[in-house]
Amino acid sequence: MSTASKTPPFRRVAIIGMGLIGSSLARAARRHGLAGSIVGCARSPETRQAALDLGLAERMEESAAASVAGADLVLLCTPIGAYESLAQAIGPALEPGAIVSDVGSVKQSVVRDVGPHLPEGVHFVPGHPIAGTERSGPEAGFAELFEDRWCILTPPPGTDAKAVDRVAAFWRACGSQVEIMEARHHDKVLAITSHLPHLIAYTIVGTATDLEEGERAEVIKFSASGFRDFTRIAASDPVMWRDVFLNNRDAVLEILQRFTEDITALQRAIRWGEGAALEQHFTRTRAIRRRVIDAHQAGTFDTREPEKAVLPPEGPDRDGPA
Ligand code: NAP
Repeated sequence: MSTASKTPPFRRVAIIGMGLIGSSLARAARRHGLAGSIVGCARSPETRQAALDLGLAERMEESAAASVAGADLVLLCTPIGAYESLAQAIGPALEPGAIVSDVGSVKQSVVRDVGPHLPEGVHFVPGHPIAGTERSGPEAGFAELFEDRWCILTPPPGTDAKAVDRVAAFWRACGSQVEIMEARHHDKVLAITSHLPHLIAYTIVGTATDLEEGERAEVIKFSASGFRDFTRIAASDPVMWRDVFLNNRDAVLEILQRFTEDITALQRAIRWGEGAALEQHFTRTRAIRRRVIDAHQAGTFDTREPEKAVLPPEGPDRDGPA
């Protein structure tokens, strides 16, 4: 779907939260002709003005309730900690038949926080695009963000199938592949693929921050030896990630326990000079990297950049031992 001349599948799309993800969705919806009009909502006057200057929406509202009036698709794109009060605010203003969806990185808590506040006749189709960067705000977004990425939908049992199909079609038109999953399963999978890696990056960069002044300066200077990639992840939005860990607590704690056991095993192998065990472990993990590349999920999450991170046929990775 790329012709703006066709009737758009949604008459009016309301986007609540015009940051990286919300503004990218606005751009993608415009590019692919998915919305007759877009109304945005953000807290700060600066974000509202920036969104208007960038042409992301016809109108920007401070009030979430005002932004959803007349909308047939409402997309929640704020940090998930704000969802419950937003759902309370928009509930009475939603049109019958409207679809409410979201982009939050945790799904069970979203079903818990949003569902009960939506009136009868409004369809709720939670979603999560597996795409993003470490940047925030309306200027950081771009229309290609969702291309060749997955979007996971977690409709609660009994959700209207047509509403799910319409949301899936929206994401496909933005360039994503769509997978339907139970919210609980989503949260377990994402705890390992996204939440734990972010926690590790926040920890490593925090540890480096606490080093003596001289050592810290050298960590920055020689960061290309591996640290650099962690600093990129650890630059991600603090509020968004606070909310992710508070809302996916059980799955994160469970995977963290397994991670702690595995790192203890590696610690032991290093202590006892078990080279074969170390080599075997690193060989297995290298094979996983190959599969990620083959699945076209490597490189940065900015699809405008080429996938640079390709393994050489033999020998160490460019950013490997330094
Ligand atoms: P972001 O760039 O920081 O933008 C957040 C937006 O939400 C801002 O426009 C902010 O408005 C607005 N906002 C915050 N609290 C609000 C409230 N109470 N009422 C109205 N607007 C409010 O964040 P993001 O990276 O786009 O993340 C948004 C969502 O996407 C999160 O739920 C996150 O879990 C999910 N997600 C993020 C990524 C990623 O890589 N970043 C990937 C997938 C999913 P102001 O600017 O006025 O404060």
